[in-house]
Amino acid sequence: MKVLKFGGTSVGSATNIKKVKEIVLSQNDDVIVVVSALGGITDKILTAANNAATGTSDFHTELTEIRQRHHDTMHELFNGNEPIREVVEKLLDELEQILTGITLVGELTAKTLDRIAGIGERMSSQIIAAFIGAERKDSSLLIQTDSNFGKASVDFQVTIKNIKEEFAGFRGIAVAPGFISKNSKGEFTTLGRGGSDFTAAIIAAALDVEVLEIWTDVNGFMTADPRVIRKAYTIPELTYSEAMELSHFGAKVIYPPTILPVYQKGIPILIKNTFEPENPGTRIVKDVRNGFDRPIKGISSISGITLLTMQGIGMVGVTGISMRLFTALARVNVNVILISQASSENSISVAIEEKMLSKAEQAICEEFEKEIASGQVNKIDIEKEVSVVAIVGENMKKTTGVAGKLFSTIGRNGVNIIAIAQGASELNISWVVKNEDLRKTLNVVHESFFLSEFVELNIFLMGIGTVGGNLLQQLKQQQEKLLKEKHLRVKLTGVANSKKMLFEREGIDISEFRDKLAQAEKTSSLQGFVDEMKDMNIYNSVFVDCTASDNVASVYKEILNANIAIVTANKVAASSDYENYAELKRIAKRKGVKFLFETNVGAGLPIINTLNDLVNSGDRILKIEAVLSGTLNYIFNTISEDIPLSKTILMAKEEGYSEPDPRIDLSGVDVARKILILARESGYRIEMEDISIKRFVPDSLFNGTLDEFWEGVPGLDAAFETERKKLVAENKKWRFVARFENGKAEAGLEVVDASHPFYDLEGSNNLVMYTTERYHEFPMLIKGYGAGASVTAAGVFADLIKVSNI
Ligand code: ADP
Ligand code: ASP
Ligand code: MG
Repeated sequence: MKVLKFGGTSVGSATNIKKVKEIVLSQNDDVIVVVSALGGITDKILTAANNAATGTSDFHTELTEIRQRHHDTMHELFNGNEPIREVVEKLLDELEQILTGITLVGELTAKTLDRIAGIGERMSSQIIAAFIGAERKDSSLLIQTDSNFGKASVDFQVTIKNIKEEFAGFRGIAVAPGFISKNSKGEFTTLGRGGSDFTAAIIAAALDVEVLEIWTDVNGFMTADPRVIRKAYTIPELTYSEAMELSHFGAKVIYPPTILPVYQKGIPILIKNTFEPENPGTRIVKDVRNGFDRPIKGISSISGITLLTMQGIGMVGVTGISMRLFTALARVNVNVILISQASSENSISVAIEEKMLSKAEQAICEEFEKEIASGQVNKIDIEKEVSVVAIVGENMKKTTGVAGKLFSTIGRNGVNIIAIAQGASELNISWVVKNEDLRKTLNVVHESFFLSEFVELNIFLMGIGTVGGNLLQQLKQQQEKLLKEKHLRVKLTGVANSKKMLFEREGIDISEFRDKLAQAEKTSSLQGFVDEMKDMNIYNSVFVDCTASDNVASVYKEILNANIAIVTANKVAASSDYENYAELKRIAKRKGVKFLFETNVGAGLPIINTLNDLVNSGDRILKIEAVLSGTLNYIFNTISEDIPLSKTILMAKEEGYSEPDPRIDLSGVDVARKILILARESGYRIEMEDISIKRFVPDSLFNGTLDEFWEGVPGLDAAFETERKKLVAENKKWRFVARFENGKAEAGLEVVDASHPFYDLEGSNNLVMYTTERYHEFPMLIKGYGAGASVTAAGVFADLIKVSNI
């Protein structure tokens, strides 16, 4: 014999009930079918009752809906020929009468509520039994409880006897309502919300059936609630203990008390999907057969929690405090979900349901009245709007480092953990976070422990000019490959230009982002962008700065402090005051997020990375010599008899090599910033003022407006041409060289001959030479394209990949 339980969604409509019938009839065994109310009906009954009691709003709206749902369902199932119409109608009338009674009295007791809460099950079981053509058994006559209305405790002795008697010699198919029961006086009670699972388990255990099948609307017990974690997947097998822990901590797929009766009898539970019956679902058994051997099986959470902390130096070493605390809470029926006590015994925290707060607080204050008055116990601390999260898995026992990995992962994502508890059984680690951090916590933990099929990286991009635009193109081209080969899903989660900004948690389709951004409602503002990123509070977030703006650089601290990584092509921050640069690096380190700016020097060339590797592996940088301006190198490689200096500058701008204002390149400021950054990354404390720059363009051209600059520049052409001819004759070339040695940095135009490594430096290429303790006689050379939107974007992309840690 089998017991099959179908939940609210499974019996939510005529179409679904037809599916249920198919499933039931396809069993080649005797079957007891336990059913919930039609989906949503119990909620409606409870709302109607509350409305009736408070008189705030009429209960008829709900009642009409309840009637309509049942009429429609019966109509469709029985083609208008409704054999049980009368029975259902009577139950609906009973409901109406009691609701009217509640309105008149203006009061709703738990007892009255239980009188009507199960009417949904009483109706659904009638309809389904008739539709399947099965016998209906009345669970409320079989399951006897105490009189704790709302969540009654079962008298197993009487109940088991009743069930055994009722089903003695039973063959065929029976349908019974879930959830409902009666006390010894014959008054209706209920088994608690979600209690139909429990009804099925009680019957299964009493009859010692072969299997208890819970049919619901998902493919079994999943690694997390699929409504919250899209990437959750089905767990093929769970032990009873694991299922118990997960459901206790909020995995609604099964009502926690369900497990005990079947566990005692060793009856396996199968969780199946009514809408995908061919899916194997989840088996819950005593020992898991095959090695589904991840340390953690699942993660679940409960919201609507308050954390109560009792604190006081007077509590240290005093015996009986915890006992009194829990007894006081038990007296008022407050269920303690989590307990955490410091070993100093200075404080003890308990997590309870928020709705129990006032009861709990009063009970504690009464119990510890004397200690509070004498100051032995300070006032009780209350932290509202928190959630409890738990990871569960029997294999945690055998695995070290789970807690370490767990909390460092959560911490790196900027989530504050308010309290922690781990049972000595090591089956479960649970902790408390603010409600607003719950989604992020679940995602982070799911991703890092369940080896979700992929890691997600959430990009917030500011600046969609040449570099930003190119980056998005490259991203779009690589998205699929990264997902397939590296299991990395890179999402554009936020984007802004100077006018508008756009955010989408699920990711913006890059092929449409320009149109979408143009139509976006939000006007762009830097602080607005930062606030939105922080509010979205998404794990694995990275801010990408593809602007050249001082303002944008000024918000890096705030961003890093919010545990959002930064990848930037903007040189302003790394070349700002040393203190600011150092502070940014410190924050990033403290918060465990990356702050990467490889493209600040030599675009996509691995110049900073290499430097970091050298320094981190114990090498010391003695000298850096470099051609660091793609623009200047392009200019001095392009200048010729036919192309004067002024034209080369214009060409450099048009090619996209120069900064938007080419004077930043010509003045040597750009090069100075780069050598400054390299010196700092080599470990030297150095400021912009410490760098001496020898300009090759008169100061007067830098002082006016950009237009005046363009007007004045051709005036230099003749002198440069004379000089150039001389160099050609001597087989020499101009190079704008930056140098760092003995803590001093300088930059200026130099003349090199054919023997110098800088001589053959084509186009806009860059070259860096590191002379170090290890690379002494022959310095290390890094050479290649040092400017241009696409190589810069590629460098930014490479930094992004580094952030994702794949
Ligand atoms: P039923 O009405 O069939 O009893 P419930 O709504 O009580 O169904 O439980 C099924 C729901 O539980 C699923 O739709 C799912 O959203 C939720 N759920 C929460 N945690 C989990 C989990 N770990 N695995 C599967 N479902 C879960
Ligand atoms: N109908 C009840 C509820 O919604 C019992 C159940 O469906 O399990 O809580
Ligand atoms: Mg349920």
